[in-house]
Amino acid sequence: MAALKDKYQQFKKVSNFKSKLIIPTSITAFFYSRFESGNLLRAVKVGIKQDLSFSGMPVQRQVPISYEYDLYIGNDTETATHTHWYYFQMINNKPKQGQKIRLNIRNLMRNKSLHAEGMLPKIYYEKQEGLPPSKRGWHIDPAVTSELKFFVTDQKVNFDAQFSSKERQYYTMSFIYTVQQPYETIYMAYDRPYTFSKDLKKFMDSKRNEKRYSKILQINAICKTLSGAECKMMTITENVHNNIDYFELLNTFQKSNDQAKICEGIKSMSSSEKEREQKKLQNSKEKSTRPDDKYHDYILRNHAKKAIIITSRVHPGEIPASFALEGMVDFLLSENKEAKALREKYIVYVVPMINIDGVVHGNQRTNLAGLDLNRVWSNPSYLMSPVVYAIKNLANMVKRERKIDVFCDIHAHF
Ligand SMILES: [Zn+2]
Repeated sequence: MAALKDKYQQFKKVSNFKSKLIIPTSITAFFYSRFESGNLLRAVKVGIKQDLSFSGMPVQRQVPISYEYDLYIGNDTETATHTHWYYFQMINNKPKQGQKIRLNIRNLMRNKSLHAEGMLPKIYYEKQEGLPPSKRGWHIDPAVTSELKFFVTDQKVNFDAQFSSKERQYYTMSFIYTVQQPYETIYMAYDRPYTFSKDLKKFMDSKRNEKRYSKILQINAICKTLSGAECKMMTITENVHNNIDYFELLNTFQKSNDQAKICEGIKSMSSSEKEREQKKLQNSKEKSTRPDDKYHDYILRNHAKKAIIITSRVHPGEIPASFALEGMVDFLLSENKEAKALREKYIVYVVPMINIDGVVHGNQRTNLAGLDLNRVWSNPSYLMSPVVYAIKNLANMVKRERKIDVFCDIHAHF
């Protein structure tokens, strides 16, 4: 019993960490990634290497190092590939201020990477209080991460024999981290993460809760992902209350004769007839709840509008796609004259995150089933790729009733 007590005394609780993580005092630095979009597979403390193999050429060390770690990031779910995105936490247990730790991420798959061009990793300090503005939030700091090298990993390896029998050539991204404070907790990532449950939810909620958007924005679910997360779509157009939601559209679409009949009927009306019918609708106090009537009213009210479909994050590691999408949505909802003109002429359907599960699990490309969703558009599966299936349904439904001028799927390769 006493021995057990002694053993526990060797461990100390790490402050500022939400779960009760305990780290043995003997450990130099602790690495962790069991949080949304995190994906570190393992960290190995290694002897300090005297030179780095850089494209086969020895590179002499410029700076004295105190510690060195080899890091390996996890493959995408159900695959043996796609190691590119990384996001993890490092808790410095022993290193003192000013000491240098070399970190080598050794199993990167792509040689096309901004790290190969010298881009430093993004960093974020867990304790934000008291930091100068330049060190708050996600940022790059050449005084903290430096000496970046990108080179071919010195041995071929097979990290996952379960999926592949072949050894592969990997790339290493190696850099020095200079310790800022003892016991600090720092997050490192390829780019500032954009998660589903925090960033996207915050963005969607901020739009949903704005009263001034109530006439131009609707947010509805279109399906669930493999993990059961709800995939939401934003519909942006003037007088959005005249719209029907995805499932009401689907209801009519599944009875394809009804949809065609209603659309054809309204198309064949003269403009004065359409106007007369629309006025009748505006004056009638009660809205019909019969699906076909509802669909008829929706087509009549929106017959002049064309469609735009915007999607992003089919590839979870392509973070900048989300920021581009936020900018587009902000513009479309704005008071800008062009934005208003667009809303009058178009119904804009926005699916901001196609591969939610991939984002949550820290994947670069695939969903939970190991599928690259950008390769299933021609034949999406209701069971294995439900979001692409739903978006394709949407596009098919919409193109029967109005012209789709733009289908923009945002990617960001970097
Ligand atoms: Zn992509």
